[in-house]
Amino acid sequence: MKLEEWPFRVELQPDELLSSFLIRNAHAHGTTPYLFMNYFWPGRALWDRDCDRSADWEWLCEVSELAGVSTEVLATSTLIPFRQSLGSTSLYGDTSLLLSASVYHRTRRRHGLQFCPECLSNHLSWFRRIWRLGFVLYCPEHGIPLMDCCPACGSPVIPHRSLRLDARYCHQCDSCLHNTMTENSCSERLLDLQKLLLNNLLTPSTAEHIGPFHGTALFAAIRSLLSVLTVRISYAAIRDAFNLPETAWLPHDRLQFEHARWPERFLLLELLSVWISDWPASFHLGAEAAGLSQKTFARLRQPKGLREEIQRLKPGSSRNRRYEPKVFDEELLRLKRVDRKAYRKLRAKRLLALALLK
Ligand SMILES: [Zn+2]
Ligand SMILES: [Zn+2]
Repeated sequence: MKLEEWPFRVELQPDELLSSFLIRNAHAHGTTPYLFMNYFWPGRALWDRDCDRSADWEWLCEVSELAGVSTEVLATSTLIPFRQSLGSTSLYGDTSLLLSASVYHRTRRRHGLQFCPECLSNHLSWFRRIWRLGFVLYCPEHGIPLMDCCPACGSPVIPHRSLRLDARYCHQCDSCLHNTMTENSCSERLLDLQKLLLNNLLTPSTAEHIGPFHGTALFAAIRSLLSVLTVRISYAAIRDAFNLPETAWLPHDRLQFEHARWPERFLLLELLSVWISDWPASFHLGAEAAGLSQKTFARLRQPKGLREEIQRLKPGSSRNRRYEPKVFDEELLRLKRVDRKAYRKLRAKRLLALALLK
C-alpha cells in the first residue's frame, strides 16, 4: 500500500534527532506525539523505547514515505551512525560515550538528552543528535554549557511528553527549557577536546589525532581511560598528580560515564584531557601515581597505541585482583577533606616510603 505523505510535514533540520523530527511533525498536525504515532502505527509502542538509538530499517522506510524524506537521510537522524563510530552496535546495554536514557515504560530514568537554551529559544528549533553525546558539554554554536535537566524541577528532558504542543517545555512541571540563564563561562581545554572528538566522529578523514589515536580507536582509548577515572582512588590520585584545582567530588562506586550528569562528566573529561595531553608521558605519570597495572586494563578495550603503553606497566598480581593503594586510600582522602596539614604530612610520608623502596 502506498502511504500518503503527511499534509503538514516539516523539514528535517541539520543534525536533528529522529525523535525531534517526529515530535515536530506531530505538533504541526495539531496533535501530541503519542496520538500522532498511534494513528499511523496503531499499537506500536514507539515512545516506550529509545527510537533514536534503535530504529529499524523497515519502519524507517515507512516513515520516509510519510515524511517525504529519503530513508538514507532519515537514517542519519538516528544515533546508529554514531554508534558504529563509537564502536558499539549491540542493541543491548549502553553504547560507549552515548548518554543513556534508560527508558522505563513511558519515562526516562536518566538524564540522557541535553539541550542548549539558546538553540531552543526559537520556536522552530529542534533537538540535536550531538546533545546525546557524553563528551559534548557545550553548545558548539553558542559556546555555553548544555543543560541535562529541567532547570526548575530537575527532571530528565523528555520532549515527546511535553504537556503543550511545544517540546521546549518540561513534561513534568511545564517550565520553559529555553529562556534559561546559564553560565557563560566554558573551559577552553574542554571545548578543544570536544571539538576534536566531534571532528573524529563527524569528519574523521580530516580530524586531528590525539597521540596515536584517531577515529574509532580514539573513542575506544578514551572510553577505557574514562573507566579507570571512574574509580574513586584512581581519580583522586591522578588528579593530585596533575595538580588540578580542588574538588569535593569523587566518583561514586560503579559510576558509568554514560550515566553521569553534566558536572560529573565535566570533572571526568577535565582530568582525562590532562591525562592524555602529552601522550604517552602524561599517561605514564598518571598511571604511576594511581598504581595502575596491566591488570587494571584487562577487561577494557585496548586499541593499538594504548596496548603498547599498557604493556609497559607492571603486570599486576592475578591472585590479588584488588589494587591496594600505596599512597591514596580512603583515609588519605578523608584527611584531604578535613585536615589539609595532616593530609600533606601523611602523603609525603607515604611517597618517601615508596621512593626508598625503589
Ligand atoms: Zn546553542
Ligand atoms: Zn520541570
